[in-house]
Amino acid sequence: LSTDEQRVIDAIEEEGIDFLRLQFTDILGTVKNVSIPASQAEKAFSEGIYFDGSSIDGFVRIQESDMRLTPDPATFAVLPWRTREGENGGAARLICDVVDTSTGEPFEGDPRGVLKGVIDRAAEMGFEVNAAPEPEFFLFEEDEDGRATTKTNDAGGYFDLAPKDLAQDVRRDIIYGLEDMGFEIEASHHEVAEGQHEINFEYDDALTTADNVGTFRTVVRAIAAQHDLHATFMPKPIARINGSGMHVHLSLFTEDGENAFHDDDDEFNLSETAKQFTAGILEHAPAIAAVTNPTVNSYKRLVPGYEAPVYVAWSDRNRSALIRKPAARVPAASRIEARFPDPSCNPYLAFAALISAGLDGVERGLDCDDPIRENIYEFDERKREEYGISTLPSNLGEAVDEFEEDEVVQDALGDHISEKFVEAKTAEYDEYRVEVSEWELDQYLETF
Ligand code: GLU
Ligand code: MG
Ligand code: MG
Repeated sequence: LSTDEQRVIDAIEEEGIDFLRLQFTDILGTVKNVSIPASQAEKAFSEGIYFDGSSIDGFVRIQESDMRLTPDPATFAVLPWRTREGENGGAARLICDVVDTSTGEPFEGDPRGVLKGVIDRAAEMGFEVNAAPEPEFFLFEEDEDGRATTKTNDAGGYFDLAPKDLAQDVRRDIIYGLEDMGFEIEASHHEVAEGQHEINFEYDDALTTADNVGTFRTVVRAIAAQHDLHATFMPKPIARINGSGMHVHLSLFTEDGENAFHDDDDEFNLSETAKQFTAGILEHAPAIAAVTNPTVNSYKRLVPGYEAPVYVAWSDRNRSALIRKPAARVPAASRIEARFPDPSCNPYLAFAALISAGLDGVERGLDCDDPIRENIYEFDERKREEYGISTLPSNLGEAVDEFEEDEVVQDALGDHISEKFVEAKTAEYDEYRVEVSEWELDQYLETF
């Protein structure tokens, strides 16, 4: 075993861990678990753990179903809500890479492997990728049967303090839980909408951050549930108020630790590389949206007026733009903020798509137009045309069409995942299309 692996074995002993959850995600970003007794940890590291891949959505067919999980020792974390100090019976998790046993190669249907591939490509160009997400979520009450409602348990507003923010106890416990799992929390606040929250954690390399997003969602849900609340990352649970986004902050560092996105002499402190990267994301945004905004509901959030972007433009100021340049206190913090992703995405695939599109912009030396400083929500069609501003897809069907037209974004995900993804999302959209909604009944049932 390597030193890192041995360290995990020791920690299992010290912390009284009886069970290990080996985790990976399917194409839709759902965290999957294979639980093994802690006594199997050594074997898991030396030989891997075999499982039947055909039972996982979008993985493989029955006849080619043997998969192997290789745990990444750097991802060891004790699950705080399952483990009490000094007692046995605790549980810990390890995030795994998936290996195709027929070839011994990384499995091309493993989203984590896909992101690793894109990060390698960035490294070949001389860059390390840093990422920080801002996942927003709602806390809702449960009904008597323990099912989620859309009733919020507080009446707080943006940055409001107690006593209005009744959910702050829950948020505090969530933060403790995240800290126990190794997160460095930067800030947390009540978001604009009632019942809506945001907790920000420290940026890291893109792979670690994608791992963290999965962990974050798990911890938030588990701890909310302890308070009889349902935490949801659904992008737009309630019409006509703000939805939940997952803004993604991105920057490229050079191998010697310099921020390749910073330029002291530029008006926006953005380097040429940062602008090309931005231009790449803007060019591919309609196709990326299928990945970063992958549900029918995602497109209910991407409408004017709720701080979510609709128009394909960047800005150094306003929040109606797709990409914003946040103010940075130090050169290392110069970065761009992609505002269109939402927390229903698979973080590995979403980062892979964003980073690939950005790198495409750098490789092709794409030009970035001037930032838009006005509120684009207020532009009419003529003005948008004048500024050359296009719009994001208005529904999942359109987004999937855009995805199928875009080689760069498909390449980012690879053939296997692209194909399964289009299949799953087309089926999802088709299913939605034939439904008759409450709104239609209200409008038409008695009118016609
Ligand atoms: N909730 C908004 C969204 O859907 C973002 C609000 C903010 O700027 O944090 O993206
Ligand atoms: Mg926010
Ligand atoms: Mg933000």
